[in-house]
Amino acid sequence: MATLDGISVKNIVKVERTSVHSHITGLGLNHRLEAEYVAGGMVGQVAARQAAGLIVKMIQEGKIAGRALLVTGEPGAGKTALAIAISKELGIDTPFVSIVASEIYSSEINKTEALTQAFRRALGLQIKEETEVLEGEVISLEIDRAASGLGPKVGKLTMRTTDMETIYDLGSKMVDACLKEKVVPGDVIQVDKASGRVTRLGRSFNRSHDYDAMGPKVKLVQCPDGEIQKRRETVHTVCLHDIDVINSRTQGYVALFSGDTGEIKAEVRDQINKKVLEWREEGKAKFVPGVLFIDEAHMLDIECFSFLNRAIEGELSPLIIMATNRYASHLRLSSSNILNLILFRLIEKVRGTDVESAHGIPSDFLDRMLIIHASPYTQEDTTKILSIRCEEEGVKLDKSALDLLVKLQSATSLRYCIHLIAAAEVIRTRRKAEQVTTDHISQAYRLFFDTKRSEKMLTETQGYLH
Ligand code: ATP
Repeated sequence: MATLDGISVKNIVKVERTSVHSHITGLGLNHRLEAEYVAGGMVGQVAARQAAGLIVKMIQEGKIAGRALLVTGEPGAGKTALAIAISKELGIDTPFVSIVASEIYSSEINKTEALTQAFRRALGLQIKEETEVLEGEVISLEIDRAASGLGPKVGKLTMRTTDMETIYDLGSKMVDACLKEKVVPGDVIQVDKASGRVTRLGRSFNRSHDYDAMGPKVKLVQCPDGEIQKRRETVHTVCLHDIDVINSRTQGYVALFSGDTGEIKAEVRDQINKKVLEWREEGKAKFVPGVLFIDEAHMLDIECFSFLNRAIEGELSPLIIMATNRYASHLRLSSSNILNLILFRLIEKVRGTDVESAHGIPSDFLDRMLIIHASPYTQEDTTKILSIRCEEEGVKLDKSALDLLVKLQSATSLRYCIHLIAAAEVIRTRRKAEQVTTDHISQAYRLFFDTKRSEKMLTETQGYLH
């Protein structure tokens, strides 16, 4: 944790693990913003990815303020995948926060507070801080040439700081010894703690070397002037919500771990916003607007839309990406009264009102949105996505097992089949087989229900009970 102008900040620790979207590294566009069929972990969805690429460009050029993005498409069509790809394109430190609209109603705090917290989790801040060099780090060591009385050849050393005291004490002696031993930039040397004697170990500064066991080892990098570097600048990436929580008297640092942050007072946020804008002006901090992804957008009510309408106008706003499946899935239900279905399901009442509007989103908010459609996948797309997932999870699947998965996908869902890969892999390991086969996939399919089979079973059980 660091402190700036009396405000406590804390690093966001990003834990990278294999999740359903971990294969996505970006939109996979070339310099003309054209999408290749498979790139950046993304498959197909060429038009949607190109449109998303234009949005990234607009954000980078500061032309998107006051607007939001809506991604429509049926369940599993890749709406979340697209939003993640946008945030990856925006940069490695871009915060990505994903919520489902309905979760804000189940929260113990009121819905606009829940939205505000999500909003501020998607706002990042990069703060530079000067810190002490700690033991065990690899640092650059610069020797003051004038003080050591040595020639122009000696200066900067990079070393594993196994013992800072020795390094500080021996600084100039080491330089002296390096000269005697004709150590040149790129050499790895061992330093004797007591005498400062230097022994050449070799040419490469190999990280796998057991430096700790051998005492201070030094790689001579170059020979500029300077002095032993005891401090260096660290960049902390924090989100505004964490700063709010830590500096909120009633919540404090502990609430960050429990997640039980409660409501945060408007004054705390006002004070932090003021500071953040000041730091930005003074160049002490860089503001990193992230992405707030809201799934099931049609579940938001009129108060939430009014809140968002105001919030996206603000100086500190993330990019809001909403997703809804109030679209193609209903068009698929082709029946004689399809028009009624469309009118009934796609033009919905905005929650909390009697007003009807497309996707259940108020027309004034919809008017501010850029709308992208994620279209259903072809069989080729599905095969490619499932192969990428196998690679991502390090699972070897034989050809017929992959074909079976693709077939199952049309009867179930893409996400269900992605889960089957992991389950089938566990079965393969237990059976000590070399590759996942159709047998392993079939067993996983028998063990785990997809939503359609689960629904069918419930309906049948209900019929039996009556
Ligand atoms: P829902 O409406 O149910 O929330 P969704 O439209 O958000 O679904 P995703 O969760 O994005 O769908 O997609 C399901 C799975 O397929 C995820 O693992 C996702 O990473 C992967 N996926 C979807 N589209 C693509 C794509 N074009 N390229 C690569 N992977 C994809």
